[in-house]
Amino acid sequence: MANQELSAPFIGIVRHRLATDGKGVTTLVAFHSCPLRCHYCLNPQCLDPEKVWRTITISDLLDELLLDNLYFLATGGGVTFGGGEPLLRSEFIDEFCRIKPAEWKVNLETSLNVDRKHLERVMPHIDQYFIDIKDTNPTIYKEYTTRDNTQVLDNLRWLMSHEGMAEKVIVRLPHIPDYNTQTDIDHSRALLEKMGVKNFDEFEYIVKKEELNET
Ligand code: SF4
Repeated sequence: MANQELSAPFIGIVRHRLATDGKGVTTLVAFHSCPLRCHYCLNPQCLDPEKVWRTITISDLLDELLLDNLYFLATGGGVTFGGGEPLLRSEFIDEFCRIKPAEWKVNLETSLNVDRKHLERVMPHIDQYFIDIKDTNPTIYKEYTTRDNTQVLDNLRWLMSHEGMAEKVIVRLPHIPDYNTQTDIDHSRALLEKMGVKNFDEFEYIVKKEELNET
C-alpha cells in the first residue's frame, strides 16, 4: 500500500510539453535540491532552501497530473521527473508510480550522482532516462560541478548492464564554455559507447557573457 501522504519539495510543474523530455505530451515535475553545484546552473532556485515553490503530497500530485490524463493516453505520454535531482526523492517517485495509471510513461532527468539504492528503487518504473553526464573526464567534472563523478560512471555502467537499456537511455553531452572542448566531448562519447550507450544529445550551453570565467 503506497503512502499517499508522503511529500516532497518542488520548484515547479510544467504541463503540456511536447517531444521535449519524453514521448507524447508530458508534464515536467521538478524537485527541489541537487547534490551538484554546476557553475552555470540552469535552475539555481533548486539550490536555495528559501526557494521551495511548493511541498506536495503524492495524492495531490496525482490529482494535478490527472488533469492531463486524456492527453497522456492519446499521445503515449506521461510524467517527467526532473529538478534539481529527482533521485534524491526516489521513495516519493517509487510510491507515486505504484498508484498512477499504468498507461502513463515515466521519464527521468538525472545526473546519476546519487547512491545506487535510489536508482535501484525507481528502475522498475522508468521508461526513458535522460542522463546529464556533463563530461566523463573527472577533472573537468569536478571543476564544473565541484563534485566527483566516480559514482556517476559506476551507476551508468550498472544501468547499462540491464537488458534493453540501450533503447531507454539518452545521454546529454553538453559543450560547456570554458570547461570542455570538442576533443573532450569526443572522448566522453567514445567511453560511453564502450559502456553500450547508443543515444546522445550533444548540445551547447548558452551562457551569458558575465557568467564566463575570467581568463
Ligand atoms: S545538476 Fe542541474 S540543477 Fe543540479 S546544479 Fe547542475 S544544473 Fe543545477
